[in-house]
Amino acid sequence: MANVIDGKAIAEKIKGEIAEEVARMVKEGMRAPHLAAILVGNDGASMTYVGHKEKACERVGLKSTVYRLERNTSQQQLLSLIREINDDDNIDGLIVQLPLPEGLDEQLVINTISADKDVDGFHPFNTGKMMLGLPSFLPATPYGIMTLLKESKIETRGKHCVIIGRSNIVGKPMANLLSAKGEGADCTVTLCHSRTPDLKHFTLDADIIIAALGHPKFLTADMVKPGAVIIDVGITRVEDKSKKSGFRLQGDVDYENVAPIASYITPVPGGVGPMTIVSLLKNTVAASKIRQARK
Ligand code: NAD
Repeated sequence: MANVIDGKAIAEKIKGEIAEEVARMVKEGMRAPHLAAILVGNDGASMTYVGHKEKACERVGLKSTVYRLERNTSQQQLLSLIREINDDDNIDGLIVQLPLPEGLDEQLVINTISADKDVDGFHPFNTGKMMLGLPSFLPATPYGIMTLLKESKIETRGKHCVIIGRSNIVGKPMANLLSAKGEGADCTVTLCHSRTPDLKHFTLDADIIIAALGHPKFLTADMVKPGAVIIDVGITRVEDKSKKSGFRLQGDVDYENVAPIASYITPVPGGVGPMTIVSLLKNTVAASKIRQARK
């Protein structure tokens, strides 16, 4: 039976470290780091995510401000709010919760966020720096997975890692980080996607599989080499009448059948999700230190 990677516990430990760091900053006369979030519309999952981020900021002593905008907010209104926040020297990090309602141009929105406040690490400037291995804000989910692997002491050097999904926020940066040179990386990476024929051919050879496609229970036991490390990024809301909310969160891995043959596995919920938020906090603290040191 696989070792379960307890993302929640690892995230809590790191949050404790961040809280100590923030307290130290304040003691030294700096202000607490400040994260701004923009939420457009009332998508249930997005509202939940923003709520979690707000709570996490509070837990570690970060200031947070959430700008809640109407669903029918225009592109111009959204961009001018972003520019206003860009110019506010008391705000260190800015995230715009995605996806945005139809009619708003996500890439333009991302491009408008000042690169030095882009704590989601989605701006082309930060993406480019990451690609070159230069210090940058790493996208929160891949950054969180890198931390999970490191904290769980999982050897990556020379391992074959198969990533399923090529999104700009998970799959592609993940491939970049794991194939980079150095400790905690040095993987040989195969990036699979919806046009990959015979996906099983690749996954069966993988030492590490990162499933990030958003199809519940997609990765089944017959696709996994015994002893592989399984990282489940997927979060899909599936109907569950036994829950008060009427749904539960389902990962991309058929957990019950894959766990017995894997060496390590992340659960959903409680695996990658909590680490994503921790990475956002880390990026915000880093952004704040850079900003406040400039003065
Ligand atoms: P996306 O929808 O942007 O992209 C999905 C990718 O999966 C695409 O690149 C596509 O090519 C690939 N894909 C689709 N069907 C496939 C198939 N049958 N075989 C192989 N590849 C296939 O996805 P995303 O934004 O990266 O999110 C993926 C999942 O991860 C979603 O469930 C999302 O909710 C979840 N997610 C979780 C976190 C977290 O913090 N845990 C963060 C981001 C995303």
